[in-house]
Amino acid sequence: MSTKRIYNLEIEGGLGLVTIDLPDKPVNSWTDAAIEELGQMLSALETQADLKGLIFMSGKPGNFHAGADLNMLTKMKSRTDAAAVLGRLHGVFNRISGLPFPTLAAIDGYCLGAGLEFALACTARMAKDSKSTQLGLPECNLGIFPGAGGSQRLPRLIGAPAFQLILKGMVYPASKALELGVIDRIVPADADLRAKALEFLQEILKGKIDLKRPEHDFSHVDEVAQVARGEVLKATRGREIPGPMLAIESMREGLKVSLEEGLEIEKRYFIDAVLSDQAKGSIHTFFLKTMSDKPKGMITKGFDPKPIKKVAILGFGTMGRGIAIDILRHTGMEVVAKEIPQAIEPGREFVKKILGEMEARKRLKMPVEDLMGRLKIVSEYGESFKDVDLVIEAVFEDMQVKEQVYQEICQVVAEDCILASNTSSIPLDSMSPFVKGRDRFAGLHFFSPVWKMELVEVIQGEKTSQATVDNLLGFVGQIRKRPVVCRDNPGFVVNALLFPYFLAALDFIETGNSIEEVDKAFVQFGMPVGPIRLTDEVGIDVVYKIMKGMKIEQNTLKSLSDQGRLGLKKCGKGFFSQDGSVDLDALPLIQKKNPKKLTAKEMQTIVLTEMATVGKDLLDRGIVKDPHMIDMGMIWGTGFPPDKGGPLMWADLTGLSKQHFGRTFYETK
Ligand code: NAD
Repeated sequence: MSTKRIYNLEIEGGLGLVTIDLPDKPVNSWTDAAIEELGQMLSALETQADLKGLIFMSGKPGNFHAGADLNMLTKMKSRTDAAAVLGRLHGVFNRISGLPFPTLAAIDGYCLGAGLEFALACTARMAKDSKSTQLGLPECNLGIFPGAGGSQRLPRLIGAPAFQLILKGMVYPASKALELGVIDRIVPADADLRAKALEFLQEILKGKIDLKRPEHDFSHVDEVAQVARGEVLKATRGREIPGPMLAIESMREGLKVSLEEGLEIEKRYFIDAVLSDQAKGSIHTFFLKTMSDKPKGMITKGFDPKPIKKVAILGFGTMGRGIAIDILRHTGMEVVAKEIPQAIEPGREFVKKILGEMEARKRLKMPVEDLMGRLKIVSEYGESFKDVDLVIEAVFEDMQVKEQVYQEICQVVAEDCILASNTSSIPLDSMSPFVKGRDRFAGLHFFSPVWKMELVEVIQGEKTSQATVDNLLGFVGQIRKRPVVCRDNPGFVVNALLFPYFLAALDFIETGNSIEEVDKAFVQFGMPVGPIRLTDEVGIDVVYKIMKGMKIEQNTLKSLSDQGRLGLKKCGKGFFSQDGSVDLDALPLIQKKNPKKLTAKEMQTIVLTEMATVGKDLLDRGIVKDPHMIDMGMIWGTGFPPDKGGPLMWADLTGLSKQHFGRTFYETK
């Protein structure tokens, strides 16, 4: 443990300045040690008779305070644990607000969560108007809510707008914080914050500044809470996620009484929230996000990935175009694509249209014209393929077509050029014989639409070298995707878990549940769309064929496909009609089995059990090395509810893994 101090106090002319600098960490956060040392420092300050005022600043430029250390939250396993930690944090914040002299938080950079709650306990706040200055209470995004005074102090400071800020977990710049009344003064980005803070504190002491806060009227807080509840439920499509729901209760009850009593109410609700499974799931998702934000961190230690400067794409259909869009917008590198002549112009127009939409929303670093100048689409292989570093193949899902293009491309590219297939269902190892130099051949499975879906699966075939996988991870980082690394497997990871879900959903409608009941059960569970609607959107024939490839004959999908019902989007008819409701003409095509009507909960449990069983099998067979890959794949590949932390984490949290497999996937309980 470090012996360096976290808080350094300087006193000059009766004014104190505390610099916060958590040793050996990139950001300041609340750890047990940080709370304890602050308590000790406050004991000294409380008896310092000649102190007239105090400033808190950060010793880390661009980072004031990042809030609670998430590991501290995950350690809260019981009400007693949680109450003890929360009590200590409340204790130091209350002592700051009770100091007999004014205190000022001088903010430069991130000031988030319990970092802002700490600043709210001070008499006043000022912030630098810099790019990195961002303030907010984002806890509701993590399944909890601001429980270190935030749900009480923020509304008392700024009134009813605090509801929105807290419930949406909004993070905003210094100018917005000033407008809202969260801070009292803003200084330019290049100002000397220390000098400006001393100046401000002097003004406060001399009474030149009126820090009297407006008295907010909370007599209508029940109505405000009611409206807020409706908005939250609209955003969650009716799901009562504990964090925001309990935040509303904390504010509704706490704002009717004194701050002291309000803080006690907040503590009680916060403990309910932090111990909920959804908080644990959300925090797990946050860790998965952090892990996959930087795919380069997954590369074998010491390996320096080959820089990818030019990419070739074979096939410029749905996927080829999407992949080109993402490469161009994130890297601006040269892309050469091969297509049949008649599909070249439609492809180019499509890319231009999507990039144009991104430019209109100020999402591009370079003008569309410049990016389009870097895209070359040809119908014959030629010179422009000689210097490509990576080929991504996205031609028809047809073995013969794949064989032909691999044989052709191997004639034109360099021997060390990486070759990656975007196939969804053809085993990688059955294509690798078409390639010269099988160690450089891997799978790179994107999701559609590519520019909206963050996930990509990196597949290591039997002969794929680790260097090829590592080089692809480097590339995935360049195009800002989240990678799941796996071995060759039917459906890889995501579809291997998704298809049993589709299959179960089809089984539910075949055994007597209505399409509406089945879709509703999974929307209530938190999936973005119900499984039958998703099947319809993906394409009924597509799902049917992929299942067939997995040696599963799904009769309902077959009968709909045979009748030309390929999906509403694809051909105007499927399970649903144009107005979005179930198409009554599709109902006779459902292949009825022995009736067995299930409740929503029963359907959800069956599907989660299926997913966890497939997940366990993937782990047992070494298709993935750890459960994180599966949970990441399902959250960013299918929209599995982030507050559940992925199917394997949810199976652990709900006790399903212990019950079915005798053990958990993670060390959670
Ligand atoms: P698509 O039919 O939209 O596009 C394929 C393109 O390849 C067509 O434009 C076709 O003209 C072109 N093509 C065919 N033979 C060619 C050749 N010899 N040389 C150059 N171009 C040729 O198909 P898609 O949906 O883009 O799928 C492509 C690949 O991506 C398939 O392997 C598929 O399994 C996979 N995939 C598809 C999705 C999806 O949601 N559509 C998702 C992930 C992976």
